[in-house]
Amino acid sequence: MDEPLQTGDAPNWAKIGEEIRCPLCDYNLRGLIDPRCPECGFRFDWPELIDPTRRLHPYVFEHHPERNVWSMWRTICGGLQPWRFWSSLHPAQPSNARRLVVYIIVVAGFVLVANLSGIIVSAARDLTAQNSSERAWFAGYSRNPRSAEWMSELQQEYGSLDAYLDEAFPKPASWAFVKQLFISGSEILEVAKFNFIYVSWPLLTCAALLIFQWSMKRAKVNPRHVLRCVAYSFDMAVWVGVLGIAATVLVAASGRMSMMSIFAMGALIALECLSLLFMIHRLWVAYRRYLRFDRPFATIVASQVIVGLTALNVLLVAYIW
Ligand SMILES: [Zn+2]
Repeated sequence: MDEPLQTGDAPNWAKIGEEIRCPLCDYNLRGLIDPRCPECGFRFDWPELIDPTRRLHPYVFEHHPERNVWSMWRTICGGLQPWRFWSSLHPAQPSNARRLVVYIIVVAGFVLVANLSGIIVSAARDLTAQNSSERAWFAGYSRNPRSAEWMSELQQEYGSLDAYLDEAFPKPASWAFVKQLFISGSEILEVAKFNFIYVSWPLLTCAALLIFQWSMKRAKVNPRHVLRCVAYSFDMAVWVGVLGIAATVLVAASGRMSMMSIFAMGALIALECLSLLFMIHRLWVAYRRYLRFDRPFATIVASQVIVGLTALNVLLVAYIW
């Protein structure tokens, strides 16, 4: 019969051939009995580290490239129960930085598109109505005998009235219309600035946590663990994106400048702000359960003060500019 990898509380080191390292700081743990890293202070259970069958998480996106959509969906849903999620994932389960970055890009891209779609639909509808009324006015004016001089100048410059109208007041579904929508559609830009800050929040948080860690001389914790905590805490924004699509449906179904569409877009911005509180709570759970920090609350609050002030600065500059 095979000898067990663990005898009582201590690992059976004679039986363990591979190097067992601290998952947070890579310190070699061979020969130790106490389940605590002497280098960084990380506390763990020996089976988490020495049992190879516990290294594969049942569904997390980093571990299941064979089922991308399924694992992404399960990871996003898993985060709805943060205590359970951060108890099922532990630092000894290898992380895959490339898949983590893909995960962040897919989530951020979806949230950005979903949250901006309402304002784009609304601005496109306004521009369509405005351009079609301008076109009708010019078509009427061109038949007026007093416009003859103006018409001949216009023919010289543009070739025809239609060519002028297509450039100045383009119809929807043309390239000129798209350009006009995004260049002169200042309301889209205003909402976009806010949403860029929203989807950059996790990256700013990651940077703040790393700076904080270095300044506190806890540089021993591998940055990939911080990235993991941030990625799986802020992926909650996907649910805000789903509500963003619902708001877009409301905007599309209601008329121009209707109370319903103004309410839907305002509510979405309020939800984005509110969701940050939930995400910060999830990050605190991650720091407590996963990284097992001594002062997770102080660490998270300090990082969020830095990020909040940075975001406020960027927003002020962006809106004044
Ligand atoms: Zn360690």
